[in-house]
Amino acid sequence: MVATLSSPKLLINGELVEASDKKTFPLYNPATREKVADVPEASEQDANAAVAAAKAAFPAWSALDPSARAGYFKKLANLLRAHSSELAELEAQAMGRPVAQYFDAFAAAGNFDHYAEAWPHIQGQASLNTPGYVTMTLRQPMGVVAAIIPWNVPLLFLSSKCAPALISGNTVVLKSSEKAPLTAARVAELVIEAGFPPGVFNIISGHGLPSGAVLSRHMDVRALSFTGSGRTGRLIQEMAAQTNLKKVTLELGGKSPALIFGDADMDKAVEETVNSIQWNSGQVCMANSRIYVEKSAAPAFTEAFSRRFQAVNAGNPLEKTTNHGPQADEVQYKSVMAYIEEGKASGGQLTLGGNGTLEKTGGFFVEPTVFVDTPETARIMKEEIFGPVVLINTFETEEEAITRANDTEYGLYASVYTKDVDRALRIAKALESGYVGVNCTSPATGRDLPFGGYKMSGQGREGWLHSLDHFLETKSVIIKVAHL
Ligand code: NAD
Repeated sequence: MVATLSSPKLLINGELVEASDKKTFPLYNPATREKVADVPEASEQDANAAVAAAKAAFPAWSALDPSARAGYFKKLANLLRAHSSELAELEAQAMGRPVAQYFDAFAAAGNFDHYAEAWPHIQGQASLNTPGYVTMTLRQPMGVVAAIIPWNVPLLFLSSKCAPALISGNTVVLKSSEKAPLTAARVAELVIEAGFPPGVFNIISGHGLPSGAVLSRHMDVRALSFTGSGRTGRLIQEMAAQTNLKKVTLELGGKSPALIFGDADMDKAVEETVNSIQWNSGQVCMANSRIYVEKSAAPAFTEAFSRRFQAVNAGNPLEKTTNHGPQADEVQYKSVMAYIEEGKASGGQLTLGGNGTLEKTGGFFVEPTVFVDTPETARIMKEEIFGPVVLINTFETEEEAITRANDTEYGLYASVYTKDVDRALRIAKALESGYVGVNCTSPATGRDLPFGGYKMSGQGREGWLHSLDHFLETKSVIIKVAHL
């Protein structure tokens, strides 16, 4: 029996409720286009009620011993692990992620476990550097925090935002993505099972309008952590600026380059760059969607890359043998197909794929697609496609490789493959990117490293201890002491 959640609810003030105006929106399985659920569309009133509940819960939650907060985290982490298969099936039906590739529930549990132990790192400092005074800083929670997440790896983002916010003593309202609301709605039930006090952890579903915008404009929301597109990131930043200047953290899109030099371990470079752009059907912010290969090595690399890339097993994401699911919905499918059509007209050469298989399969599947020698000025070289589409170009010198890699408004992840360690480190320094992989590419990440983007890829850095800073105020206290 495949898991279902046919009537998901909003979690507001510890209660699972329908939208106040009973409004729902239909969610369709992108592999079959069958309806999966009617999902509550949180109204303006619901978003306001969630913030009000979080505000009311804040004094008691922030006063609680952090190890007691951690107790709820440990229960939730265990529940997430216990329900991993069910959550995998819900995600497969909502946005098409193959169950065989589902790791999100364990990763989310790991985040809650991590922050359950991380609270002793919430520390200020003290000094005697001002004669006659003892000075200190205190780190304190901000109040109500909002989290707005995308659909591509939903529970990872739910946990990486809510866990550091909550352990710091803030209360939270999370809004899930309209394209993948089911796992968050199931987590809402698990939050109740874990015993979180009412109002501490609220989870709502719906579109950007109205509920996302209500959270962004809300005068009682003091910090907002967002992962999603640059377009929405700008809107949220604007809404924050127009209202209470809430602290906004933005994790946005990417157009990540991988630079492959002729001396690289080619088998590894091929295997890892294919995985980076193929996993989750290319719907990954840090996927290496642009590959620059040293000219002499390009024919062999492109041939091996294409052979491996096309050998996917596309099909029903609920089948354990599937490793290539559909795009998340019709909007994503049409957007990827439009970019492919534009790529064909741009002067680049389509050497693999280039087709959607909607008519054949009834689902929003896109074939692994390769373009070579696309003009650097083409729109598909500049914009995020968010599909299984890679652009392979060549370079002749190290300088040219760096210039091309940096010729983008994005800067989330970049990688370089070479055996020359001096060159690797020169390039790592020169790349305008929040993350650099040397002889590896995304999704390779260090668990304790900060993650975030240069340029239009975002503002701020997330990751274990780094994320705590987003959700804590710093207060300076100066104490005059007689005869010190
Ligand atoms: P999106 O911007 O369309 O939506 C993200 C969230 O914002 C959703 O919950 C949506 O409902 C909400 N939203 C939409 N309009 C809003 C508004 N006016 N006010 C408030 N909220 C609003 O992005 P998406 O399509 O869900 O996700 C894909 C994008 O996310 C890609 O650009 C991808 O690169 C990026 N992403 C970035 C990272 C990262 O860590 N940097 C990770 C994953 C995805």
